[in-house]
Amino acid sequence: MSIAELAASDSAAPARGVAWSPLDRGEALLALRAEGDELVELLARASALRDAGKGRTITYSRKAFFPVTNLCRDRCSYCTFRRDEEQDGAWTMSLDEIARWSERARGLGCCEALMCLGDKPEAAFAGYRRWLAAGGWRSTIDYVAASCRVALRAGLLPHSNPGLMTPEDLSLLRPLNASLGLMIESTSPRLRTRGEVHYYAPDKDPELRLAVVRDAGEQRIPFTTGLLIGIGETLEERIDTIEAIADLHARFGHVQEVIVQNFRAKPEIPMATAAEPDAHDLERTIAVTRLMLGPDMNVQAPPNLSADGLDGLLESGINDLGGISPLTPDYVNPEAPWPHLGALARRCERAGFRLAERLPIYPEFVERKDFVAPEMRAPIEAWRLEIARREAAASEVRA
Ligand code: SF4
Repeated sequence: MSIAELAASDSAAPARGVAWSPLDRGEALLALRAEGDELVELLARASALRDAGKGRTITYSRKAFFPVTNLCRDRCSYCTFRRDEEQDGAWTMSLDEIARWSERARGLGCCEALMCLGDKPEAAFAGYRRWLAAGGWRSTIDYVAASCRVALRAGLLPHSNPGLMTPEDLSLLRPLNASLGLMIESTSPRLRTRGEVHYYAPDKDPELRLAVVRDAGEQRIPFTTGLLIGIGETLEERIDTIEAIADLHARFGHVQEVIVQNFRAKPEIPMATAAEPDAHDLERTIAVTRLMLGPDMNVQAPPNLSADGLDGLLESGINDLGGISPLTPDYVNPEAPWPHLGALARRCERAGFRLAERLPIYPEFVERKDFVAPEMRAPIEAWRLEIARREAAASEVRA
């Protein structure tokens, strides 16, 4: 088989037409409380649905994480990433830094440039506003666009996750990114009230975040979103969040993956002593996400936040492990190193799965040409062939 044929027959592509009906709210709530045999049965159902849609392939994206700026106007109670502009560790990457990191990432075989940053720092910091103006940047998003151009020139595929975006921001970033992302985290407006995690985080208003996901759908942008669990939400609110994602995906068909991320406590945050979701809580939530969103959805959980729990993640119905970097740490969870890829592949294999690399745009969206900006077609196609080549070489070694 030629490389082009191998790329075209992507083994991670979903099997179409698997019959299923989503869990309703009552069933989902019971499932989120499942214990013992009921939990075993729940995970088996979610696994079977994943197998029907995605087979036994678990994907990941080889990436470099660019913390474009860690200045942020919000103060989420679980965040160690953000800084004020006068604070130790405050950092906005220069375009020279972006270029140097991009070259190193390319040299290490990375495909994805994850642009991740604080939300709307220009709304809070006068020095940063002056810095933007001096560089001729209209906004942080304008600077992210420039960063994407630099990463693209070095041969990477950007995936930006820059916080809230207006429709104009989305239009600016679409031709410079393989896909875009914004975690919904939770649709609970209660979490914005006094004493809750998003009280000091105006950009975490659920209506504003849902509007971004909707606008991305209207612009045919492959979109990554997800939920963050263990931040004070109730189980009912967790279901609300999954339902909201399902509704938007039903309208626009653009949600390419849903991340189920678990809160991790850290000594320096206001939630330092808050309880983390335990492994079963995470597994139940992944399983319910799979059973509510169906066999074709890509459901992801970050492996570095469940270092000893990979088997549990696999048994709960995920088919993706997200971005893993050989170059940069997870700046959002710097205490949690990414697993070594070779070791991860062996652990997947022991559990009956094949680990495979993917692009920051999923194959089913590459096939839908209206979801790929004309400017991104050539770089995406080049990477599709490059990954197929790697896959072919790895198969030869295995054989
Ligand atoms: S989680 Fe994001 S939005 Fe919240 S404070 Fe941290 S960087 Fe800002």
